Parts: sequence; C-alpha cells; structure tokens
Amino acid sequence: MTNRPELPAEIARRRTFAIISHPDAGKTTLTEKFLLYGGAIQMAGQVRAKGEARRTRSDFMQMEKDRGISVSASAMSFDFEKYRFNLVDTPGHSDFSEDTYRTLTAVDAAVMVIDGAKGVESQTQKLFEVCRLRDLPILTFCNKMDRESRDTFEIIDEIQENLAIDVTPASWPIGVGREFIGCYDILRDKLELMDRADRNKISESIQISGLDDPKLAEHVPAHLLEKFLEEIEMAKELLPTLDPEALLNGSMTPIWFGSAMNSFGVKELMDGLATYGPEPQIQSAQPRNIAPEETKVAGFVFKVQANMDPKHRDRVAFVRLASGHFQRGMKLTHVRSKKQMAISNPVLFLAADRELAEEAWAGDIIGIPNHGQLRIGDTLTEGEEIRVSGIPSFAPELLQACRAGDPMKAKHLEKALMQFAEEGAAKVFKPTFGSGFIVGVVGALQFEVLASRIEMEYGLPVRFEQSQFTSARWVSGGKDAIDKFANANKQHIATDNDGDTVFLTRLQWDIDRVGRDYPDVELTATKEMM
Ligand code: GDP
Repeated sequence: MTNRPELPAEIARRRTFAIISHPDAGKTTLTEKFLLYGGAIQMAGQVRAKGEARRTRSDFMQMEKDRGISVSASAMSFDFEKYRFNLVDTPGHSDFSEDTYRTLTAVDAAVMVIDGAKGVESQTQKLFEVCRLRDLPILTFCNKMDRESRDTFEIIDEIQENLAIDVTPASWPIGVGREFIGCYDILRDKLELMDRADRNKISESIQISGLDDPKLAEHVPAHLLEKFLEEIEMAKELLPTLDPEALLNGSMTPIWFGSAMNSFGVKELMDGLATYGPEPQIQSAQPRNIAPEETKVAGFVFKVQANMDPKHRDRVAFVRLASGHFQRGMKLTHVRSKKQMAISNPVLFLAADRELAEEAWAGDIIGIPNHGQLRIGDTLTEGEEIRVSGIPSFAPELLQACRAGDPMKAKHLEKALMQFAEEGAAKVFKPTFGSGFIVGVVGALQFEVLASRIEMEYGLPVRFEQSQFTSARWVSGGKDAIDKFANANKQHIATDNDGDTVFLTRLQWDIDRVGRDYPDVELTATKEMM
C-alpha cells in the first residue's frame, strides 16, 4: 500500500472513501460539509433531508419508496482542491447489513466519526472491525467538540484500547465545551480558531512557528493556554507521531478534533485525506490482481438498487472501477455471462444530482442502469476473464417463511423475492420439500422493509412467519459428495437464488453432526460472490 509513482495523475488524485459512525455521531452533517467545501452544494442543508429521513422506521420506508433520494446519496463525487473525492454512502439504518460490508469493499479508506462526548459506540466498533478485515486505512474525526466532551487523552485511549489501533493526534483541542476555541493543527503548526457565529464559514487559521510562538498567547486566553501546553507536552511524550505508512496499512489512525455543525476541523480532515489518504488501490481478483494504472478498464458491481423509478423496472448497478479510463459508450464484457454490454448511459453521482458520465477513472463509482443482467460481485472487463474476489455473502442470522397473501400468486412472489435476492437485500431459499420460500436477513427491520417493498413495487401483500429453521449454511464439496449429502438430508435442503445447495437447520448440533458424518462436504457461513 504505498503511493505509486506509475499512477496516471487522473487516478492518483482520486480518493474513494466511506464514512463509518454510530447513528447520531454526525455523519450526515459531516457529509454535508464535505460537499460544501467541495463546492458541490451552495448551502448546507441539502443533505439534511436525507439524513433526517433515516431517523425513524416510517421515514425509512418513505425513503425506500422514494428511491431517487437514496440513490443520489449512495455515491457522491466532488472536487477538493486538486483532488477528486468519491464518497460512498454506507446504509444509514442501524441494522448492520451486508450492504455495508460490500460498500466497504468498494472504497480505499474510511473516515470514522465519533462523538466527543460518547467515544467509541457499538456501531462504530462493528464497522471498524469490518474495515480491519481489509486493513483499510482509517482517518478519525472526533465531532461535537463545541459541546462538553471527554478528556482528549481519554478519547484517544479508548480508541487505542477498544479498536487495537495506534492513534496519533493530527490536531489538539484547546478548551472544552463552551470554552472550546479551536485546535492546534499539529501537522502544519497552525492555530485554527472556531467561529461560532457563522457555521458555514471556513475557520480562521493562524500560522505559528512552534509552541513558544508569542502569537499563541495573543489568541488563546491564559488559563486555556496553560492547560493546552501541558497537554500537548504530554501528548508528544506519550503518543506516536504520524507515520504515513502505518496509516496506509491500517495500523495507525490520525485523529482530528472538530465540530461538523460549526464547519470546524472539516477542511483539515479533508486535507489529511487528500495528503495522506490512499490512492486507488490494487484490487484482488482471480486469476490475477488488477492494478489501477492498467490501461484496460475493469470494474466490479458492489451494490444493486432496483425499482428506482417505480414506472420502470430498471435497476442501477453500482460499479467501482478498478482500472483504466472509462468512456461512455464503451463495450465491456460481462465476465460471468461472457456477453458484451454497451455502456451507453452510465451515471456519475455528482453530489445531489445524477449526471451522465462521459468518462471515469479507476477509483470512481459509476451507476449502470440495466434490466437485471448485473449482479453483485460481477466483473466487467475489456474482454479478459478476470473476476474480482473478496465480495462475500454472509449466512443470514434470521430466517422467516414468506407467503403471498393470495396463494395463487406464488410465481409472482418468487419473481419479487428473486429480485431482492439479486439486489442483495435478502437471501432467498427454496426448500426441496414443501412449498414457499425461506427468507434470510441480518437485521429484523429488513423483513418489514421487504414486506413493504413487495407490496409497493409488486402490488403483492405478503406475510412473514416463523420458520422451522433458524440457521442456513452453504454446502460445498465435490458434486457427488453434495448430491449424496443432499439426498440423505432432503428435509433440510434448499437452493439459493444462484442455485447453490444450502443446508437449513435449527440446531447447531446438526451442523456439528454433518461435520462428523460427511467429511467430504463442508458447511460454510459465507460464500464468495463471483
Ligand atoms: P448521523 O446520524 O451520524 O448522520 O448524525 P447527524 O449528522 O444527523 O447529526 C446528529 C445530530 O447531532 C444532529 O442533531 C446534528 O445537528 C448534531 N450535530 C452534528 N454535528 C454536531 C456538532 O459538531 N456539534 C453539535 N453540538 N451538534 C452536532
């Protein structure tokens, strides 16, 4: 993960990242300020509506109904100085979902937002662990410093202990709560003062030379200065300095302190992402990895969103470009089907609007409208048979049986469910015995969202009921071994929407038994989507 000189300038200037946080820490506010600094929106407040839409369950449904809104927020591109930022949104509701995981496979870095009064919260911890699996570089923003916050050392300690990552302060707060006046920018030896009166203004920045510069005393009240100098002295002794390599390999996170609401500390964070954040990275694939500087275009689908326009059954596949320079109208090979696709109306997500993408580079996210050919995990290339790897599908943690209110509509239901399965919104299993479908999700809220979408988009009232099964495992092994196993366990066998064999049970004991009795097959809780 080093910065590679061979990258074309257009690719080297790209920063593709996601924001991870616990609900309410300030992700929406920070996104809004990013766009403001990126010149993508004129006034703060435009993203607000989307953020607030995630607040409650009914609003979430409303958002699902109004797919246009959620899709323009799914990926946002904007320029910051000489850089192009691609911010990929992670789903806003609190049920941790695979969608989030897969979104994180499409970015090169994550910004972790924590609330200065609350520290590392549960959702932050979970999302962080997902980033850790890929050694994703993480930049931390400690938000809401304008309010009473915890002691700075305590916050840093908590991140180090809970997340097992080295933390280096990129800035240091001066004063707490109402007395918070701004930060000392450690990386650039500057004093940044917060303007509480104008929330959308870039903060005042005062260049100083070293901590004994008399300018400090001119701007910082004596009692705050004394405490600050004491703290920064201690911080220099106790905490590591920024090691760009360690940041890039995910073992160290720099932390900025600020207030998204007051537009404070945001620009410094963006500068940090621009200066130290990773360029588009090498993508793992089979049979060979894909380097961003390769001249041929390759990309992979990490998300599919269907029925964005209720009048047309269209879908948009979100594609992360892994290499090359893409131009509108290009013909790409859909590796799974070996068919050519002309990409004539790709969408680039420029802040609040969708725009036709004339061109895009490795690192960018484009949306490709299609009629269902493109699925999560699919690779598009200029002909070579490469498949991007590492996009997993997880065994669902909750299973329910799904029935159509009208039994005559079973075929209709199958179609709807398959579509959601392809979108990655749920797992759908068709048991070999009996009728009906078993639907699996990660968070309980997803059942409600599904029921509401099936009714809205297909005019089909459905019921979710308790299923006799609680766990699903994919069966892998040689074809004969799988067939033999499936025949002997028919009442537990189903197929997923790709036609792969699945073992359903309610007992861990059953899963252990298979391990003992059938050494030739393996039951797994994840499946790679390729
Ligand atoms: P999200 O759920 O992470 O997207 O959080 P939001 O951005 O919607 O923020 C949650 C709440 O915190 C909102 O009421 C914001 O106005 C508030 N908030 C965000 N940033 C700050 C900040 O810097 N200071 C203060 N005091 N409040 C903030």
